[in-house]
Amino acid sequence: MASAKLKYLQITGVSHSGTTLLAFLLNAHDEIVSGGEMSPAAHVNPNFFSCSCRKEFTECEFYCDVEARVQQSVPEFRLDDWQTRFRVSGNRYLQKALVGNLMGARSEAVRDLLFNSVGPLKTELDNRTLRVESVARAAVELTGSSVYADTTKNPRRVAYLKNRPGLDIYLIHVLKDVRQGVVSSTKRGRGTVAEGAAAWKRGNLAAHQARRYVPDDHFMTIRYDEFARNPQETMDQISRLVGVNPCPIPENFFSAPHHIVGNNMRLSDGIGAVRSDDSWKSRLSDEDLIAVAKIAGKTNRLLGFDWPK
Ligand SMILES: [Zn+2]
Repeated sequence: MASAKLKYLQITGVSHSGTTLLAFLLNAHDEIVSGGEMSPAAHVNPNFFSCSCRKEFTECEFYCDVEARVQQSVPEFRLDDWQTRFRVSGNRYLQKALVGNLMGARSEAVRDLLFNSVGPLKTELDNRTLRVESVARAAVELTGSSVYADTTKNPRRVAYLKNRPGLDIYLIHVLKDVRQGVVSSTKRGRGTVAEGAAAWKRGNLAAHQARRYVPDDHFMTIRYDEFARNPQETMDQISRLVGVNPCPIPENFFSAPHHIVGNNMRLSDGIGAVRSDDSWKSRLSDEDLIAVAKIAGKTNRLLGFDWPK
């Protein structure tokens, strides 16, 4: 069993694109297990990151079992510091230069060849990908699933994870139309409309480009509006992508046992939580729409939306 490849589904996209909700739906599938984002930020603060089962991580039985299994391959693994994110430097600029998203596939490829495939950085990255695979295998074995789904959105993860021989990587890019995306960030106080449009464009282009790391038949895009309109159809497409049987979404999928890590929007009730967001119509003025179109209109169309005309 340990030698078989593990199907690893990486979800990418910008924040507030519906990925946490998707994690709950994926985890409610018979053959898929998801813990949401793989690991909280570097050090767990239980006040901010309790498990969605409402226990603290270090008290959650599921994660205690995961920890015990992971320690068989990584004895230093601890639930209060998973080290399953690819943060190798506390320095923001060094972090970006070493493992961040660079502009253009070629500069990333050159950088990866020069710095990430030899020496101490390679050792560090190998250690992290081993941890990721070990956590995923533990979760799959404990739940009798066959696919692990990770909603840590950083598109660079697949660039490292694809090098692990034990993983069969699938990638899904979840995205909102730029108008919905801008409203999602501005209504949370994350900067101006123009800043929101620029961030949407940057994040979604990086996510879109990450598809080059996986075979074409291991990649798909999910548009949030289509997902909200017909969650079952989206789930069935995902089942086909990863080669498992389609599974009806349970009516009360939030109340199934879940151990999800992610943002604070983890608990709600029922399928009604999947809903389309048209609030941009009242929140964005004509001037806002012109600014958004100028900054990110071309990218919005590139990614399959029919706005701006
Ligand atoms: Zn839990």
